[in-house]
Amino acid sequence: METDYNKIAALEKAISEQYGQIAIVNPRSGWTREQEAEFQKGIKKKTRSEEETLIREIENVCPICDSYLRNVQDDLYMTKFGCCQKCYVIHIEDRESKWEEKKERLLNKNA
Ligand SMILES: [Zn+2]
Repeated sequence: METDYNKIAALEKAISEQYGQIAIVNPRSGWTREQEAEFQKGIKKKTRSEEETLIREIENVCPICDSYLRNVQDDLYMTKFGCCQKCYVIHIEDRESKWEEKKERLLNKNA
């Protein structure tokens, strides 16, 4: 496909007139190598257990008991407490305040 630079320029002009100059700026133009390095360092700060939790969430698996999330309730408990409904009943119900500590212990044990 041939690139029509006149058409691109006309589009950029129309966009900037409607939404302002900021709408047509290349995002890279305000981003330095140093900022990129800082950003990459921040990404790598995730711990091993955080990464594994993330992977399991994507796979729809409870990070505590490794069973697949089966229903809407499991999804709901996963969102709110980071585990399935069964694990909620076993580990959290009536002692929600201690859950965060216990969850870290269980995740590290599984790692
Ligand atoms: Zn579970």
